[in-house]
Amino acid sequence: MENCGVYPLRRHAQHIKQPFTETGTLLYNFVCDLIELLVKHQSPKMKIALTAAAVLTPTESITNGVLIIEDGKISKVGARTAIEVSSGAKHLDFPDAVLAPGFIDIHIHGGAGHDVMEGDSAALAAIETSMAKHGVTSYCPTTVTAPLDKTLVALEKLGKAVKNSQPNGVRARPLGLHLEGPFISTAKCGVHPLADITAPSLELFEEFWAAAQGAINLMTIAPELPNAPEVIRTASARGVRISLGHSDAEAAPTKSAIAAGARHATHTFNAMRSLNHRDPGILGVVLSDDRLSADIIVDGVHVAPEIVKIFLASKTEERAILITDAISATGMPDGRYRLGTFEVEVKGLTCMLDGHLAGSVLTMDSAIRNVMIFAQWSLQRSVRLATLNPARLLGIDDRKGSLAAGKDADVVVLSTSGEVIRTIIGGVGA
Ligand SMILES: [Zn+2]
Repeated sequence: MENCGVYPLRRHAQHIKQPFTETGTLLYNFVCDLIELLVKHQSPKMKIALTAAAVLTPTESITNGVLIIEDGKISKVGARTAIEVSSGAKHLDFPDAVLAPGFIDIHIHGGAGHDVMEGDSAALAAIETSMAKHGVTSYCPTTVTAPLDKTLVALEKLGKAVKNSQPNGVRARPLGLHLEGPFISTAKCGVHPLADITAPSLELFEEFWAAAQGAINLMTIAPELPNAPEVIRTASARGVRISLGHSDAEAAPTKSAIAAGARHATHTFNAMRSLNHRDPGILGVVLSDDRLSADIIVDGVHVAPEIVKIFLASKTEERAILITDAISATGMPDGRYRLGTFEVEVKGLTCMLDGHLAGSVLTMDSAIRNVMIFAQWSLQRSVRLATLNPARLLGIDDRKGSLAAGKDADVVVLSTSGEVIRTIIGGVGA
């Protein structure tokens, strides 16, 4: 509603407050509220009916399904035999396709030539438009370790982008930030710049929190670092989901971190101490502890297909989550591209810096198709790893991550092999 003309009026009212009496200002604000309400109700209550070969909710598959959208929300989902498509509705029929919830990417650095840490609206518009083409309807812009001043600037811009996010065409919407670093292990830092990696500190966390205006959803932290449990406790109490990763931890500190509130693991296997059958370490705990969900980059480069199968067998369709960890090079030709504050070399599916993998050029639809190929999972089960499971981790499953009455109308139309046919965000795009 920001562009409806009401807010500028209100700003004007504040600006010319002096000549107004107090009653005059109250009256003026009342009129503004009234106009705002009228404009809201002027917007057409467009009713849209989508029909398809199946609706993947994703906990069930409804054959010959129908999904009704009203005012950006899902109002009905069910079988065509049970729900009538009224003549007043705009009807879109996809007889050879399926409907799935919009994908949620909790770990993404950029795309379409831009990095989220640029933070300005043009960069975010390009990234969000390109994500939507691959079925992603909401995401956590993810920072990499950077000099403190640059991190704070990025957090401030991204926090504002999250706070001011409005429905804006077919563009993925930012949910809240993911801080990947600087509280990570120097032994498992991947391409994160060593000089900017810091031990966890409450003071620093408070600085990040203030800069991002509290819009932090997820934080990756290495549990073995000094003060990690204290920072985990404080951040968890604020509602930040704590993800264990970029870590060389043994089992004991990993368990302490879980006791302090950690509930997830970042790109399992990558930048993580390896599994040893007599010394399970962080990986053994992540794979075996059912209190943790965990994510993985299924691009065929970061983790071998056999390991994807082991991961899925351990974390199951209840707790496995797909991420892209995609960088600015996604959707672009080979070359040198920005990641955070540095550059990486991109060739085919591989992004490298000094012999280390540096993010990916994976898209979420491709990750889902890879799960179907590598682990022979059905589309329905695979889709859950990019929809319901990340929504549950972030605590937003009351509005996102599944197709049910009352949820946001974030819908992806997919071919039966998982190709994106259309993306609908808050009802827009249908
Ligand atoms: Zn990353």
